[in-house]
Amino acid sequence: STVFLNGEFLPSDQARVSVMDRGFLFGDGVYEVIPAYGGHLFRLLPHLQRLTDSLRAVRIPDPYTETQWSGILEELIGENPGTDQSVYLQVTRGVMDRRDHAFPLGLEPTVFAMSNPIPDPDPALAERGIAAISLDDIRWQSCHIKAITLLPNVLLRQQAVEAGAAEAILIRDGHATEGAASNLFIVRDGTLITPPKGPLLLPGITRDLVIELAAGHGVPHRENAIGEAELRTADEVWLTSSTKEIMPVTTLDGRPVGDGRPGPLYRRMHGLYREYKQAVREG
Ligand code: PLP
Repeated sequence: STVFLNGEFLPSDQARVSVMDRGFLFGDGVYEVIPAYGGHLFRLLPHLQRLTDSLRAVRIPDPYTETQWSGILEELIGENPGTDQSVYLQVTRGVMDRRDHAFPLGLEPTVFAMSNPIPDPDPALAERGIAAISLDDIRWQSCHIKAITLLPNVLLRQQAVEAGAAEAILIRDGHATEGAASNLFIVRDGTLITPPKGPLLLPGITRDLVIELAAGHGVPHRENAIGEAELRTADEVWLTSSTKEIMPVTTLDGRPVGDGRPGPLYRRMHGLYREYKQAVREG
């Protein structure tokens, strides 16, 4: 398949990055994952805004304007017309001449992007829900940056998988923040609750869309810290991400959430989300 690397479109097996790239040696870079439905990039501008925010936070100069970025991504998804895809892009600080944590000024960032077909989420999961386990949030204090440095997230997700769960819900100082690669919502007494944005969680694009849909359809919602006890006694627990969309969590640490089935507010929001996605797909 065709990928984008440093200004060129080329076959993936011909794309080469230096072993002295700071992304390779330090995980010194940021990324985005953007779905495209029926050839339409989903929530493109918020994704590009978050990319700009991540780049600024780690002091990597943004190599492209918004128009240039969208041109590159449009061209990539155009390689597989008509299919649903997920675009991955990353920008690292660039290639250094010797290994040094401190970064030289004036490096040329390394820019990579690829697009892969994605299936619709398995409808059986929306019926059954997924299992999650709670784990201590072992990550750093700047989780709002979408950094490629994902070792804690990788270890947390692996621990979940080895426990027979699909995702880890992370607990920091007695509060549930988000999943290892997803944002967290709970429902209590008919109100949708998600933690406010801040340095301890990624400002998810799907999270914002769920809030927008709730606001637009009169679903009671608020942004509020979620204590561990509140999580464990919630009527519903959901996880959101660009590729997983909205997933109902039906068991947490082996115990049923609510009645152990996806709840009524989940079914409502899932319907609203699917309608929104279909409208985007049809342009
Ligand atoms: N939180 C983390 C740690 C993530 O890695 C992700 C995405 O993979 C999310 C939340 C969800 O963000 P988005 O909805 O923008 O995909």
